[in-house]
Amino acid sequence: MPRAKYDAIIIGLGAAGSVVTEALSGAGWKVLALEEGPWYSPFRDYPDERAVRTPTGLTYEPGSLRPSMVKCVGGSMLFFAGVFFRLHESDFATRTRAGCGTDWPISYKELEPFYNKVEIFSGASGSNKNVFEVPRGAYPNPAHPVSRGAQLFARGARTLGYHPASTPMSIISRPYRGRPSCTYCARCGEGCMVGDKSSPEMTYIPAAVKNGADIRAGYKVLTIETNAAGRATGVVYKDAEGVKQRADSDLVMLCGSALLNPTLLRRSRGPAHHDGLGARSAMVGRNLMCHNGGRYMARFPEVVNGYMGISGGINVQDFYEGAPGGDFHRGYTLYVSLLPPPAEFVGYLERDRWGGRLMDVMGSYNRIIRLAVVGEDQARPENMVYPDPEATDENGFPRPRVRFKRTVNELNMFEHAVASSRSICRAGGADDWENHYISSGSAHPLGTCRMGDDPDKSVVDRWGACHDVPGLYICDGSVFPTSGAVNPSLTIMALAARTADHLISRRSG
Ligand SMILES: Cc1cc2nc3c(=O)[nH]c(=O)nc-3n(C[C@H](O)[C@H](O)[C@H](O)COP(=O)(O)OP(=O)(O)OC[C@H]3O[C@@H](n4cnc5c(N)ncnc54)[C@H](O)[C@@H]3O)c2cc1C
Ligand code: SF4
Repeated sequence: MPRAKYDAIIIGLGAAGSVVTEALSGAGWKVLALEEGPWYSPFRDYPDERAVRTPTGLTYEPGSLRPSMVKCVGGSMLFFAGVFFRLHESDFATRTRAGCGTDWPISYKELEPFYNKVEIFSGASGSNKNVFEVPRGAYPNPAHPVSRGAQLFARGARTLGYHPASTPMSIISRPYRGRPSCTYCARCGEGCMVGDKSSPEMTYIPAAVKNGADIRAGYKVLTIETNAAGRATGVVYKDAEGVKQRADSDLVMLCGSALLNPTLLRRSRGPAHHDGLGARSAMVGRNLMCHNGGRYMARFPEVVNGYMGISGGINVQDFYEGAPGGDFHRGYTLYVSLLPPPAEFVGYLERDRWGGRLMDVMGSYNRIIRLAVVGEDQARPENMVYPDPEATDENGFPRPRVRFKRTVNELNMFEHAVASSRSICRAGGADDWENHYISSGSAHPLGTCRMGDDPDKSVVDRWGACHDVPGLYICDGSVFPTSGAVNPSLTIMALAARTADHLISRRSG
């Protein structure tokens, strides 16, 4: 019997894959979406903590930062905190404006309609009063109420002449499209069992199922197939029973994340692609970016209950494009993030971890707030994901191995972020206890299949089409040419929505 042929095959159902699957199936396309991880049922699995992180299979060079991701239907967003920023206009032209990084082949204006579209679909909550953002319309839902800790942070920022703003969230602040509003239970990191956090398994996936998309969880794509002319023709995958199968389509969309795409592309050799797919520019796997992340904690004289509610609260972007006299490129965002529960919190203390000093800190646990630093890091070809020469996976393929080192640029930026966090918190009334750490991991891997107009310097074009493989599109965090200084999921989804829209109009036009 001949195999079924699909209009599109989607690999990976994370932030990007979910959006693409919904859009193409909504246009009446016959879509097959293959996700390697499990498909959790939020109301059944999240309360029992059955939604666990499946092993990623990644390995790391000694001394490397350890970025990671989550494999499941909904992808890394299942455990995400819900912070839902747009990039700034300047992010699309850092080379032209600041002499660093590389310009994107598209502008903010080109992405703007898709930011709007994703925010409406997801029911984003926020306020349009951030002076650093491009002027924009109202959010579909109002901003969440601000915690006492965030109020004090905002007070300190205003005292110093900065411009605190409420942080946009992909968590609904009032009932929206059949979903209830947030209960502020602080469990976003284990999967939201209420249904108000707009991770794809609550939004795009149910819509795609309704549209008739064929979604298979526990199905791992082993290789992307190409013909003698070099065109994508389908995929080889292992089904949930471990049986190898093939599926055919003239359109394959790779949405497997910045960490997992490179090895899949490199092992997908074909008659016209002896070194794997997208190999022409030698950029597959390179330019990994992870954000210059870290945390700063401060203590106030009054109870702030920094462990309750949701992350986000208030942000300050006065140093987004850099700082006068700062010895680093571009800049960072600061926002109030949840304090971890007590047992975990102790693990983050750099000092005061024992005896009387620990007792003292724990006695003031409910007076402490934690800030997140999200800084732009510079893409460097030597920061990369590549096939591990020693470790193989269950299919005999080399595991993805990560090499990522920060440079003095990122360390200087973090030092500046700590100093500005300190002065803002002190101006807001904090005492002289503090704790900070630069992250040893990252939840924001980006950039390993960068987008660009020049096929010799980039892997995909402005639409996500792979320069050297007709019929293969890549759309997820891997296509970012620069990282910006905000959490990336909204931009990943907006890019995916734009690519899907392009494909649909091309077909109908
Ligand atoms: C704890 C945590 C908190 C976060 N908080 C925020 C936040 O507050 N705001 C924000 O903007 N971002 C946040 N992020 C980051 C955000 O979730 C990611 O940037 C985003 O999900 C990446 O999207 P993606 O489409 O590139 O990949 P992912 O969402 O990681 O999805 C990729 C999917 O592809 C699948 N896949 C890969 N290879 C194959 C294959 N060969 N066959 C089949 N399937 C495959 C994977 O299993 C995975 O499910 C957070 C992430 C984590 C982990
Ligand atoms: S705080 Fe809100 S978004 Fe987070 S898990 Fe609880 S109900 Fe869901």
